[in-house]
Amino acid sequence: MLYVKIGDKDNVAIAIKDLPKGTDCGNGVVTIDDIPQAHKLALVDIPKGKEVIRYNVVLGYAKNDIKKGEWINEFKLDLPTPPSLDNMVYGTNLNYPLPDPIRTTFMGYEVENNPYAGIRNILAIHTTVQCVTGILNVAIKKIKQELLPKYKNVDDVVAINHAYGCGVAINAKEAKVPIRILQNLIYNPNFGGEVMVLSLGCEKLSVDKLLPKEYINDENVIVLQDKKGFKDMMTSILEMADKKLQKLNKRTRKELPLSKLCIGMQCGGSDAFSGVSANPSAGYASDMLVKAGATVMFSEVTEVRDGVHYIAERTVDKSVCDKLAKEMKWYDNYLLEGEVDRSANPTPGNKKGGLSNIVEKAMGSIAKSGHAPISEVLSPGERPTKHGLIYAATPASDIVCGPCQLASGITLQVFMTGRGTPYNLAAAPVIKVCSRNELKNMWDDLIDINAGPVATGEKTIKEVGTELFNYILDVASGKKKSKAEEYELANDFCIFNPAPIT
Ligand code: CA
Repeated sequence: MLYVKIGDKDNVAIAIKDLPKGTDCGNGVVTIDDIPQAHKLALVDIPKGKEVIRYNVVLGYAKNDIKKGEWINEFKLDLPTPPSLDNMVYGTNLNYPLPDPIRTTFMGYEVENNPYAGIRNILAIHTTVQCVTGILNVAIKKIKQELLPKYKNVDDVVAINHAYGCGVAINAKEAKVPIRILQNLIYNPNFGGEVMVLSLGCEKLSVDKLLPKEYINDENVIVLQDKKGFKDMMTSILEMADKKLQKLNKRTRKELPLSKLCIGMQCGGSDAFSGVSANPSAGYASDMLVKAGATVMFSEVTEVRDGVHYIAERTVDKSVCDKLAKEMKWYDNYLLEGEVDRSANPTPGNKKGGLSNIVEKAMGSIAKSGHAPISEVLSPGERPTKHGLIYAATPASDIVCGPCQLASGITLQVFMTGRGTPYNLAAAPVIKVCSRNELKNMWDDLIDINAGPVATGEKTIKEVGTELFNYILDVASGKKKSKAEEYELANDFCIFNPAPIT
C-alpha cells in the first residue's frame, strides 16, 4: 500500500512516501498532484463545504471542491469550531484493556518524603533571579572540575537558571504560575531532597517566596549581597556544594516497584506520521507503565484542545473532568488576551510534515496518552497527588513544557518527533522516538527508538511500544543513557510566565 488510512470513516489518507502525479495507489485512487511524503490525498471527491475526515474526526471543511487523488494541505481546509468545554461527558471510557507489563520494577534512588524515586543523582542549584546566573555558571564550572570527580555516585551538577525573579509583577494574578514552577522544581526526585539556593538579595522573588521556612538557613541558602566580593561568593558556593555532594554521594539505587516511577510524555517537530507510528507506540508503552502502577504525565494544552472530549471521557470522575475544562478555558482566555487562537499552533515545520491544522495535530498528539483512565489533572507545574495517567496542563512549546513537567516531578521524558529536534533536559534524560524511517536514517545517532516501521507496516504498535517500554526502564535504571543525555545536550529552563514583566 502507498498510503495509510486510519479510521473507517476517513475520506483522506497519508502518503507513506513521495507520490508523483499519476501514481496508481490502488482502490481506484490515482494521484492528480505530486503528493509529498506524510501529506494527505483525497480518497474520494469531496465537494466544497463538506467534511474532510481523518482519525474518524472532522479535520475541517473543504474550501473548494476537492477531487479524488488530490493533495490536501493547510490551504484547502476551513477550521471547525473547537469542542465545547461545558457539560463534557466524563467516565464513560475507563475500561479499555491495558497490556500486561512485562517488567514490574526498576532500579531507582528513593527520596525521603517523596512518593517518587529519582532515576539520576543530581545536585541542582536553584536561583531566585537571573542576576546570579553569571556567578553560578562560573561556580558550576569549578564544581565540575574540582569537586564532582571526588563523588562517583553523583551524576551531575545542574544550574536552575531562568529569566524570572526581578522586574516582574510578583503580585499579579498569574505570577503564581512561574513561582509555583520554581518552588516545585526543588522537589524533583532526581535532586535527592537536597536544597541549595542562590539569591542576590534585592529581587522580588525573595528566598521566603521560594522556600518554606524550615529550609531557609545557612546550610541551604547563599545571598550574594551578603558576601565580600567575587572570591567570597565562589568559596561559599563551593563549600556548600561540597557538603551537598557528600550527602548525595551516599545515595544508592535499589529495586523499586514501578509505582515509584514518574515520567513525562511530549512531542515536538511533529509530522503526519507522528499520530500513526510514534505517538501510538508511546501510548502503548504508557498503558503498560500505568497498568504496572507507574505515573505518566502528558501535556500540551493546544494539542489536546480539539480532542478534549476524547480525553474527558477517560477522566475518572467529575472533579477531574471539571479541572480539565478549567485548564482548557484558562488557556482559551490566555490566547484570546494575546489576540490569537489555537490556529497559531501548528508550526511551519508541522505543515511541511503534512499536518494541515491543529485538529489533525491534536488527534495525533493525544495518541501518546494511550487508553488508560485519567486519574488527575494538574495546573502548570503542580505536583500530583494521584498515581497513574495524569494530564499536566502546560504550553505545547517543547522548551516550556519540559520545565513545567520537571516541576510536576517527572524524572525522565519520552519525546516523539517526526521532523527532528535535539531537545534535551539537563535534569531528566529525554528519550527520542521518531515517526518515520527517513529521520532515523538521517539522525541515527540522535534517535533512540524508531517507530517508522509501524508506518510502513514492517512492525506493529505493540512491538515498538514494548521496545520503548523496555528502553524507558533501562534508562530509568541507569543501565543505559539516552542519546541526548550521552552528548550532554541541554536546553535552558524556559519558565512559563503568563504574568506581566515591569
Ligand atoms: Ca511540544
